Amino acid sequence: MIKFIYISLLTQHLTTSEKGKQMDKDYINVMEEIVSTLVNVLMMSPDYQTFCQCSKCRNDIISLSLNSLPSHYVTSDEGRKMIFEQLNTTENRKWINKRIISAIHTVGKFPKH
Ligand SMILES: [Zn+2]
Repeated sequence: MIKFIYISLLTQHLTTSEKGKQMDKDYINVMEEIVSTLVNVLMMSPDYQTFCQCSKCRNDIISLSLNSLPSHYVTSDEGRKMIFEQLNTTENRKWINKRIISAIHTVGKFPKH
């Protein structure tokens, strides 16, 4: 059930950012956007309520996840949309999620806050 919530939230988030603001920078890592959204959504789910919710731990989880995932930089909103669609498959979501969950457990074991 959580899976459905985060996928819809993720899609919602990216749709909003697409419509709303243009890219803040000249280049953007689409993987970073996806991972930070997924981490925020996962940390809200009941499964992870026992884990620390502070911003230091959250940033550590995001950084650790990103270090184990390939970056996907784009320089335009069209590219951003295209890469998002490529990454947003069931298989990819499973794999990205696995890395994030492993990072949540690592940071939970060795918090730096
Ligand atoms: Zn913490």
